[in-house]
Amino acid sequence: MYGKLLGDNVHWQNREAWIYSNNVYTRYPFQGSLYGLPPQVIKECIMGAIEARYGKPDQPKPASNGVHANGNSTNGHAKTNGAHSNGNGHGKSNGHTNGHANGSGRISRLTCEFKAPVNDKGDELLDCCGDGIAEATVPLAAAKDEPKNFEEFIYKVWGAGIAKHFAIPYNRKIWAVPLDEMETSWLGGRVPLPDLGEMIEGALSPKPKPMGPNARFGYPLRGGFQALMDGFLPLLNGTLRLNSRVKTVSPSRRIVTLDDGMEVSYQQLISTMPLPVLIRSMGQEAPTAIKEAAAALRYTSVCCVNLGFGREKLTDKHWIYYPEDTLFHRIFVQGNASPHCNPPGGFGITCEITYGPNKPLPCQGEALIQRCIDDVVKVGIARAEDPVWAANIVDMPHAYVVYDHARPKNVALIREWLDPHDIHLAGRYSEWEYYNSDHAFLAGKKAAESAQGRLQDAPVASA
Ligand SMILES: Cc1cc2nc3c(=O)[nH]c(=O)nc-3n(C[C@H](O)[C@H](O)[C@H](O)COP(=O)(O)OP(=O)(O)OC[C@H]3O[C@@H](n4cnc5c(N)ncnc54)[C@H](O)[C@@H]3O)c2cc1C
Repeated sequence: MYGKLLGDNVHWQNREAWIYSNNVYTRYPFQGSLYGLPPQVIKECIMGAIEARYGKPDQPKPASNGVHANGNSTNGHAKTNGAHSNGNGHGKSNGHTNGHANGSGRISRLTCEFKAPVNDKGDELLDCCGDGIAEATVPLAAAKDEPKNFEEFIYKVWGAGIAKHFAIPYNRKIWAVPLDEMETSWLGGRVPLPDLGEMIEGALSPKPKPMGPNARFGYPLRGGFQALMDGFLPLLNGTLRLNSRVKTVSPSRRIVTLDDGMEVSYQQLISTMPLPVLIRSMGQEAPTAIKEAAAALRYTSVCCVNLGFGREKLTDKHWIYYPEDTLFHRIFVQGNASPHCNPPGGFGITCEITYGPNKPLPCQGEALIQRCIDDVVKVGIARAEDPVWAANIVDMPHAYVVYDHARPKNVALIREWLDPHDIHLAGRYSEWEYYNSDHAFLAGKKAAESAQGRLQDAPVASA
C-alpha cells in the first residue's frame, strides 16, 4: 500500500520509542529496558515478574488443585482486601496476594489471532503503532487463569513491579477509566510478556537500539500522514465530495442528508462515522434498544496540543510515554517523523492528553497549552528559553474505544440491526474497535468488498 499510495514519497527509519519515569528516559518496552532506573524499582519489577509467573519464592508452591498455599484462592488469583506484597496497592480494586497456581495450560482467548512477526532472537516486543501497547503473542504460560479485567491482567502477566511503575499508571492515564471496568479481548496481539532473561539483561546494561525489520517504520516524506489518504485520489472512480458532513441518515428511505441540506441516496452505505453518532443521526428511525446500546458505548477523548519550537532537533526520539504526573501521557515527535515536518530552524511535537467523564481536562485553551509547554520543559525535551513559534489544540472527542464489559453485546446488537439496512461499518470508530491505521485500511477494504458483494447479488432491477 505504501508503494501504491506514496511511491517514493516515504521515509523509513528505525523507531525510537522511549518512556520517561523516575526522571530518566528508558527504552520501550519498559520491562525490557530497566537499566538506569533506581535499583529499588528494578528489583520490584524483576521480583514482580518472577512472582507473577512462579509465585512468591519464599512461600510454599501453590497446591496443584488450584488452592493457594495461603488458602486464599481457588483460581490461583485471589482477590483480597490487602495491598500487593510490595505495598503499592493499586487503586480501587483489591490487591492480589501472589502469583497464580499451576493452571491447565489451556489456551486462553488472550492468545491472539493477530500475530506479530517474531525476529530470529525470539523478540516479540513490537509497538509498531506507538500506542504504548506492543504487538506480540501471549505464551501459554501467561494464559493459565484468564483474568477477569484489564487490571487483573496487568498484575498477572507483568507482575506487581511493572504494574506499579509503568503499566497501571500509564494505562490509567491513557484510558481515563478504572482499569477493572475494562475487559481484555482488545489486547489480542498487543501483549508484551516479560521474558525474564531479557528483563535481567535489560536491567544490567543499556538496551541497544532495536534492529531488524520490526524496528523500522515508514512515514510520508512530505505531506504528513494525510499524504497516504491523498494517494488514493488518482485511483478513485466516481464522484468524491469533500468537506461535507453527514447530518442525518435514513435507513428506511436509504437517504443521507448532508449539512448543506443536499440529499444523497444509496443502495449500500459504508460508514466511518463514530457508531454512537451514526445511530443518533438516524433519529427516531433507530429502535429504542439500539439507541440505548449506542448511548452506552464508552470512549476516551484526546486533546492533542501541537507545539512548534524555534530550535532544531529537540530530541532524536519518535514517541515517548509519560506514565507519571505530566499532563500528557505521550508525546509524538512529529519533527522526527520526516525531515520535512519542520520549517527551517524549528521543530514540532504533539502532546496527547486523554480526558473523559472520570478525568476532565484541568484547563482549556491557552492555559492548557502553557501547562504542556511547562511539562515539556520539565521532562527535558524543550528548554525554558526555547521560543514557541506555533501552538494549537486538536480536540478528538472520540479517540479511544473503551472496551468495557458491555461493549461486545452492544456493538453486536447494533451491527445486527444495521446489516439488513445494507449499512456497512468500516474503521475504528464505526466498528467500535481498537484499530490502528493499518487495521483501519483493511477494514475499509473489507467493507468495500462486502458492499460490492451485495450489489452483485442484488436483482438487476434494483442494481
Ligand atoms: C491520539 C491518537 C494517536 C494515534 N496514533 C496512531 C499511530 O501512531 N499509528 C497508528 O497506526 N494509528 C494511530 N492512531 C489510530 C488511528 O488514528 C486510527 O486507527 C485511524 O485513524 C482510524 O481510521 P478510520 O478511518 O477508522 O477513522 P478516522 O481516521 O477517524 O476516519 C473517519 C472519517 O470519517 C469522517 N466522518 C466522521 N463523521 C462524519 C460525518 N458525520 N460526516 C462526514 N464524514 C464523517 C471523518 O471526518 C474521518 O475522515 C491514533 C489515534 C489517536 C486518537
